[in-house]
Amino acid sequence: MGRSRWISVVVVTVAVVATPLAQGGSAPQPTSRSNGVKPDPKVDRLKNEAVAEVESMKDFTQQMVDSIFSFAELGFQEVETNRYLIDILKKNGFTVQEGIAGIPTAFMATWGSGKPVIALGSDIDGIPQASQKPGVAYHAPMIEGAPGHGEGHNSGQAVNVTAAIAVKKIMERDKIPGTIRIWPGTAEELVGTKAYFVREGFFKDVDIALFTHVSDNLSVSWGDRDGTGLVSVEYSFRGETAHSAGAPWRGRSALDAVELMNIGWNYRREHLPLDHRSHYVITNGGDQPNVVPRTASVWYYFRHTTYPRIKELWKTGDDIAKGAAMMTGTELASTRVLGSAWPQHFNRTVAEVTWANIKKVGMPAWSEADQTLAKALQKELGNQQQNGLTAKVGDELQGPVRDNRGGGSDDIGDISWNVPTVTLRFPSNIPGLPGHNWANAISMATPIAHKGATAGAKVQALTMIDLLLQPALVDQAWDYFRNVQTKAMKYEPLIRPDDKPAIELNKAVMERFRPELKKYYYDPSRYKTYLEQLGITYPTVKKP
Ligand SMILES: [Zn+2]
Repeated sequence: MGRSRWISVVVVTVAVVATPLAQGGSAPQPTSRSNGVKPDPKVDRLKNEAVAEVESMKDFTQQMVDSIFSFAELGFQEVETNRYLIDILKKNGFTVQEGIAGIPTAFMATWGSGKPVIALGSDIDGIPQASQKPGVAYHAPMIEGAPGHGEGHNSGQAVNVTAAIAVKKIMERDKIPGTIRIWPGTAEELVGTKAYFVREGFFKDVDIALFTHVSDNLSVSWGDRDGTGLVSVEYSFRGETAHSAGAPWRGRSALDAVELMNIGWNYRREHLPLDHRSHYVITNGGDQPNVVPRTASVWYYFRHTTYPRIKELWKTGDDIAKGAAMMTGTELASTRVLGSAWPQHFNRTVAEVTWANIKKVGMPAWSEADQTLAKALQKELGNQQQNGLTAKVGDELQGPVRDNRGGGSDDIGDISWNVPTVTLRFPSNIPGLPGHNWANAISMATPIAHKGATAGAKVQALTMIDLLLQPALVDQAWDYFRNVQTKAMKYEPLIRPDDKPAIELNKAVMERFRPELKKYYYDPSRYKTYLEQLGITYPTVKKP
């Protein structure tokens, strides 16, 4: 890291007068801090301006959310999404380095100069088979079997780009030093890229990483987050073909090795820690039944709550794969890492600053139509709770997870162990959904997503202003990073030196569906919203 400017330990507490602002009306109340940073009327004035600026950009934000929704691209194939984002960023004065870290659909956009360097990131990829008409409260695919935004990754870039443009305007006018970076979480659903961004040095000079992710509320946390990290490994076996009926004894089946590996893993599962998660798909099961399968592959996700335990699971997987090869007289031809993610740990100072801004902005005001859609979907899914959308932000900032039972992963974990990072969660989705499913796409091109993204952009802009104008906060963030977070645990990549990004993943699926998807790309020059373009009445719900 090679930094020498991080100074003293300062206890940070941020007290805030909460005044909901998501609807754009009144100005934020002055912030009083006891974190060594004096209250500054200039900061408060610029914050008021930033909120007003983001509010004035809400159509732009909506267009971004709707456009990326309509592209519906899977990880590593975010071609239209990238072209669209890069175009907007260039038009707004950013310099864009394209195809970074050997990944065609990744970029690093930069504007400004000097310190601090603030890097804004958010994921962009969709979910297989999640195609869904927005604003319709039951399963109604736009294109049967096609990908869709069944996680809501179409909304995060709108949050960051809107915030960045609003803050840039103020920085230009007042000649405030600082550098803004914007980057995509390419192929996050494959946890496929962020470790490579780190390996290629893209976060070396970054002071603070502000990540953002869709949720059903405004929130942020510090310390170890719940959930897991993971390594994603594809095991490929090689045997020998033979006539499956004429001379099966001459053949050696690679598919047998895959099946025995899975059986071995599933027996072992009983003796693995309860807080681990593991799952697999067979990516190659052979060619046709009358030819003994010469090659076969199975793709595993090994998830656990700490780096050393992820490594242990991976070792167990490797041993079982070797055993399966021995049993079947095949060879283990390769173990390919297709993705990886460190468990996430977020910065205390940056989380406290963000939390103060969340309290200031508050939740959007949901309309009757928004609530009708949310409740109808919750009913459709058979949820016990059918309370609709969340009305207000939580009572307190979330600290470190106490009893981590495992769960999902995000490769923002890798960045969070290299620079002070937080994830701002913003309310563009409906509570109580299964995740990675068509249901999670329903709100994502509706006023729920639009208002949620605008609220998120306000918080992001306010946090940027805090960090730009109060260098002591950056120092405190690094003090926590160096003297608390990484005191006992240091980052070592899960990717091996020869591993490369798995950029060919999802290529065939996208080639198949893109011509159909193109017919539905959003055209903001003709339609105010994507719902309007699709001719969908908002909300569309089943008759009671
Ligand atoms: Zn996600």
